[in-house]
Amino acid sequence: MLISAAYYLSYVEAVELYHQLQAVEVQALVKTCGPPTFPFGDGMYYQLLIEEVDAERAQEAVEAFELQRTTTTGPRCPMCGTRNPLPVPGLPWWKRLFYAGTTLHKCPHCGAEFPL
Ligand SMILES: [Zn+2]
Repeated sequence: MLISAAYYLSYVEAVELYHQLQAVEVQALVKTCGPPTFPFGDGMYYQLLIEEVDAERAQEAVEAFELQRTTTTGPRCPMCGTRNPLPVPGLPWWKRLFYAGTTLHKCPHCGAEFPL
């Protein structure tokens, strides 16, 4: 049975944890989750699924990863990991509606737009 090892990872984080799990011989499955991106419809976050039998082996790697993740503060671009994305001013009304409850941010590095 597959269980979820980590939720709400950015793409960069998901790849990082995936490699860390591979290092301890745990094969992880990366799936999108969270609110859909516009206009593609896939979730903008990623989750890692692992086999339940691998959970014990994965635990240390996941815990180390979570610790490292919580000690790095501030929002990051989900595509390239750049810190401190900027809020996008003057959105068209339909974009404001689509991202209601969040603020659309733009990455100064790669130009990706995402709600925070
Ligand atoms: Zn970026």
